[in-house]
Parts: sequence; structure tokens; C-alpha cells
Amino acid sequence: MKTFDYVRAGSPEEAAELFAARPGARYLGGGTNLVDLMKLGVERPDVLVDVSRLPLDEVEELPDGALRVGATVRNSDLAAHPAVRARYPALSQALLAGASGQLRNAATTAGNLLQRTRCPYFQDVSKPCNKRAPGSGCGAREGVHRDHAVLGHSPQCIATHPSDMAVALAALDAQVEVYGTEGARSLPVADFHRLPGAHPERDTELRPGELVTGVLLPAAPAGLPSAYRKARDRASYSFALASVAAVVRVTDGVVDHAGIAFGALAHRPWRARRAEQALVGAAPTAAAFEHAIDLELSAAEPLRDNAFKVPLARSLALDVLTRLTAAART
Ligand SMILES: Cc1cc2nc3c(=O)[nH]c(=O)nc-3n(C[C@H](O)[C@H](O)[C@H](O)COP(=O)(O)OP(=O)(O)OC[C@H]3O[C@@H](n4cnc5c(N)ncnc54)[C@H](O)[C@@H]3O)c2cc1C
Ligand code: SF4
Repeated sequence: MKTFDYVRAGSPEEAAELFAARPGARYLGGGTNLVDLMKLGVERPDVLVDVSRLPLDEVEELPDGALRVGATVRNSDLAAHPAVRARYPALSQALLAGASGQLRNAATTAGNLLQRTRCPYFQDVSKPCNKRAPGSGCGAREGVHRDHAVLGHSPQCIATHPSDMAVALAALDAQVEVYGTEGARSLPVADFHRLPGAHPERDTELRPGELVTGVLLPAAPAGLPSAYRKARDRASYSFALASVAAVVRVTDGVVDHAGIAFGALAHRPWRARRAEQALVGAAPTAAAFEHAIDLELSAAEPLRDNAFKVPLARSLALDVLTRLTAAART
């Protein structure tokens, strides 16, 4: 492993300044992804700016009913928080579907959002990979790509984003709050990660040196139905082959709010806007769900070995939508 310096930031302002002062800097959260990538030689920072102990470790209930989650809140603590369990069950379920208890105790909210793809060619420095080494090619396109994208991929990259948590946050209309030397701003989680296009080396819309300070969940009443479901090769300790998060409200016999996002199908959590538009105003019937999900997945362009993901994602989505609206249909 290459040698590197280590500094610990005491405030977001200090973190951004320390980062800006050293071109080869990386922020360090729980380290469960970054340190692994350093051992593999994929990440080679000159300095780690440790942001894991910034005073951003609170889950705060705001007067308007929104919930602010600090960037350093650990995944275990967020999953167990009473307000998250009561008002955003999809988020709690998504967190608990990820990694293992030990990893969730260390992993932070910001680090989870910013974890890198699990594409094996990205993680192997002897292989071509446009994300790790722009212009070197994409080993996965004609190689091993069973786990890769079926939506929104490009000739340059077919990787997926691995986070379970980010899928739930996208369906729940959460915002990412960031801070940089030019000030603070926020952007929707659904638009935070990029599609690969011609620049797969850029995972997100973060500007260089910007620090994620937290995530804002809009107000949701207790009992608003939301859920997360994940299909994977093993029952635990395994990334998704496909997943879905959904929040659906039925009023007077019709759907009046729908937030749906797919995981493991694209380079970012895939917000299913076409399906949502088709559902709002419709009665929550099996036919309406099938029409909406088929409309969304008609955009899929599977690769040689991953066409199975489309019917898998379809089944997960239909199951979740059916279960979430069961009470409204009786
Ligand atoms: C064996 C294994 C199984 C796993 N299974 C799953 C799974 O099923 N589902 C799942 O979702 N995840 C899974 N994970 C991934 C795990 O969730 C991530 O490693 C973890 O969430 C990363 O959080 P961290 O705080 O440790 O991030 P770090 O490793 O510290 O950082 C990750 C990235 O975020 C950046 N970063 C950290 N904090 C900030 C900040 N505040 N602002 C800006 N950038 C920042 C770092 O620079 C780095 O690029 C698994 C990991 C392992 C090792
Ligand atoms: S899919 Fe993306 S991350 Fe994987 S080898 Fe191709 S360019 Fe690299």
C-alpha cells in the first residue's frame, strides 16, 4: 500500500479546507469501502481527511416534521431510530438488508451514499476499466457482467451502484446536503448519482472537495406505507441482484402519491418516474401495477448475461406494490 498522511477534521469548514489544501485528499468515513480500495491499489490518496468524528452524528426531528440525518450517523443507528422505523420503514429495511451487523456499526450515512461500484474489473488494477482508468476500456461489457446494469448504461460503463440505503432515500424524496469552500447546497438523492455516459469516472454530481454533511427526509406521517425488497444470491452479506423501494398512498380508492426506485439495475438508484406517473390517479389494481412497471422496464437494455434482472425486478415491484396497498383494497 502507498504511504499517506492522516488528519482529523473538527468541523465541516476545517474538513473542506484540509481537503482543498491537498489535491490527493480523500474524506474518510467508516473506512469500510475506502480502506479496502486502498489495499487493492484502486484508491491511492496522499492524505486521508477523517470526517468520521465530525459533530454530524445526530438524527434530528425538525418542526415541520422533516428528519435530518447527519453524515456520520452509523447505518445501524439509523436503521434502529424510532422515527425512521415508524415513518420511513423502507429506509430501515434497506439498511438492514445491507452488509453485516459489524459493517453497519462502522459505516456512515455519507460513506454509504458514496461507496464505489462492486464491478470486479474496477477492483482489479490489472484489468481495463474506464471508471478507474479513463480511456482504458470496459472489461465487463464483453466479460463477466451478470451483476451489471440493464438501464441507463453507456458503451463506456455498465456498472451499477451498490447501495441499498440510497434506493430507499431516492423513493422517499430525500435530499443530500453538502458543504464546500463555495458554501452549502442540497440536491435530491435521485439526482445525486450520475448515469455513466462518456464519463463513468464521475459517480456523482458532487463538486471536487464537497463534503456530504447530511440527508434530509421530507415529512412523512407515521403509518405511510413504504417498503424495500431485495433479491440476492445469499440470504445475507450479499449485494442486490435487483431491489425496489416504494412508498404508495391510496386516498378514496385511487393512488395519490407514488415514489418507486429500483436498485442494482443502473449506475444510480433508478427512480421509476414513468411508473409513478402511470399509477397516480389509478385504482390500486394488479392490472394498474403491471401496466406501470412494464412501462418503466420497457426502457431496459439487458446485456448478454443479465436479462434475468428485468423479470426479477418486475416481480419484486409487483409484490411490494401489492403488499403496500393491501389495506386500501379490502
Ligand atoms: C463484505 C461487504 C458487504 C457489503 N454489503 C453491502 C450491501 O449488501 N449493501 C450495501 O448497501 N452496502 C454493502 N456494503 C458496503 C457498505 O455499506 C459500505 O462499505 C459502507 O456503507 C461505506 O460507508 P463508510 O462510512 O465505511 O465509507 P468509507 O469507506 O469511509 O467511504 C466511502 C466513500 O465515501 C467518501 N466519503 C465518506 N464520507 C464522506 C463525506 N462526509 N463527504 C464526502 N465523501 C465522503 C469516501 O471518500 C469514499 O470515497 C458491503 C461492504 C462489505 C465490505
Ligand atoms: S462496467 Fe464500469 S466499472 Fe466495470 S469495467 Fe466497465 S467501466 Fe469499469
